[in-house]
Amino acid sequence: MKSPADLLYEQVIQLIEPLTRFDRTSLKRESDHETQAGGEASRWYSPSFNVAPHSGGGQLPSGIQSFPSAGSAEQAASSARAAATKALPDRLRKWAERHAGDDSALTAGDCYDGSVTYGAQARCHSCGGQGKTTCGNCSGQGRTICSMCSGRGQTSCSGCGGSGQQRCGSCGGAGRMQRYVTKTVWDGYANRYHSHSETVMENCNMCGSSGRRQCGQCYGRGKQNCHSCANSGKVTCNRCGGSGSVSCSTCGASGWTHKTYKLGCSVQSRFEVDARHARPEVVARLKAFSLEHLSSLGPVEQQEPDVRANALRRRYRFTCRITELTLDTQGSAIQLVGFGERAYVFDFKNIVGVLLEQDLQTLETTVQQAPTFGVGPDEELVDAIRQCLESEANQQLGEGGPAAEKLKTTGTLSEDYAGRLTAGLRSGFRKLYLGESGLGAALAATLPAAALAAIALAGWRGKTSGPFWIALLASFLLYTGAEIFARSRVNRLFRAHMESKRMRSLLRGLGVMKKVRLTTAAVSLLLLLAALRLAALRLGM
Ligand SMILES: [Zn+2]
Ligand SMILES: [Zn+2]
Ligand SMILES: [Zn+2]
Ligand SMILES: [Zn+2]
Ligand SMILES: [Zn+2]
Repeated sequence: MKSPADLLYEQVIQLIEPLTRFDRTSLKRESDHETQAGGEASRWYSPSFNVAPHSGGGQLPSGIQSFPSAGSAEQAASSARAAATKALPDRLRKWAERHAGDDSALTAGDCYDGSVTYGAQARCHSCGGQGKTTCGNCSGQGRTICSMCSGRGQTSCSGCGGSGQQRCGSCGGAGRMQRYVTKTVWDGYANRYHSHSETVMENCNMCGSSGRRQCGQCYGRGKQNCHSCANSGKVTCNRCGGSGSVSCSTCGASGWTHKTYKLGCSVQSRFEVDARHARPEVVARLKAFSLEHLSSLGPVEQQEPDVRANALRRRYRFTCRITELTLDTQGSAIQLVGFGERAYVFDFKNIVGVLLEQDLQTLETTVQQAPTFGVGPDEELVDAIRQCLESEANQQLGEGGPAAEKLKTTGTLSEDYAGRLTAGLRSGFRKLYLGESGLGAALAATLPAAALAAIALAGWRGKTSGPFWIALLASFLLYTGAEIFARSRVNRLFRAHMESKRMRSLLRGLGVMKKVRLTTAAVSLLLLLAALRLAALRLGM
């Protein structure tokens, strides 16, 4: 039979063995200590009654207790509320007795006989019960003044603008008009007739040389009949359609209004735990647990409920076995706390971080000492990273994502450890990667630009942009090649410690390639633009 302390120890082993390069021999059991925590959990229910007023049009809907006036209906509602409040403690007590053996929740329906609505109806004030009111648009006349003619029944003639006259069409308003005449005269010298043309001015017959004629559209009156109102000056009111009255909006045309008062109930609930134990850590943990959680960890017994005037408190007494186990981890002591018979651990107190601390420190030192540009990978740095990657937890942290988050939330390792480890791996990998990709990246940034500059000096005048784009593409392809080469080199260094697929996601998670990529792109573009400028200068010469 395993003791709770044994169970606790097993949990730790099952945690650290898959996550680190260490096994149970690295965790020495120093001492264990069993105690009991206890306390009381309370679930509070606080019902409250309220009266909700509502006004509406129409007669009282069915199912409402009717009263002669709104005042008496309101009175009845508040009396009902007072009665429900008075009866509440007794109801709560009886309910608690009925449910002494279960954990069912108190509902609003348990606190009173149910929702009741009280109300009264009255003739509508706005329309005097008629359901309709005088139309404000036409003052009840049914007709309004025509807007086209402003009530005159006639409008100015559109043909003459009201003057009754139009310009004469024959003479264009001048009153006189030109005419060509051909005359035949006898020429005595030539002994024959001879014809010649000339222009003469004549008075206009059409307008009696006044230039103006009577308007054909209005026969000189200057006015036309209004089409909108058929000469009457008034049109049918568009709001009431000519009836002179509109539906009453207050009562919805029913002639009645009503007021209701609805008695309702709502129940607020909260849960609190009062726990006792010598360790504040245990008390804090127990206070955060739900009733279900407490029941899964130890015996929970329902107590006599506490009935107040307007609240019910269901009480539960609980106990929970607490197992404290002290472990010696790499020379430092960690005290873990297990809850319940199976000694569940909720906080592993950075135990994985403590186990892996030495590896991390080695990584931090070697990263600092490794040269930024070296010929070939720095062996000490490679070894330090390899040692870190031997522990699954470090691989998960490097990749980032939900697995890394879970390690932190369960206390398997601390935020501090996680931050330092990722920083260490990031700079370590950056150094290695820069060593492998630096030369390729430098070539990608400079070679195409140099070629472009060379052809610029050889006579290219930069008139067409073709060579520039070809050089840019060449730079991109060269860099892509350099990156694939560098990645496969880095990959090969750690092939024995990490699958290549995970290594890819780790390099991406740490943002290792980003810096080299951005720098190469920026330098390449600058140099290419400089070469382009050189070609442009040659053009200017
Ligand atoms: Zn009305
Ligand atoms: Zn009207
Ligand atoms: Zn004329
Ligand atoms: Zn006219
Ligand atoms: Zn009109």
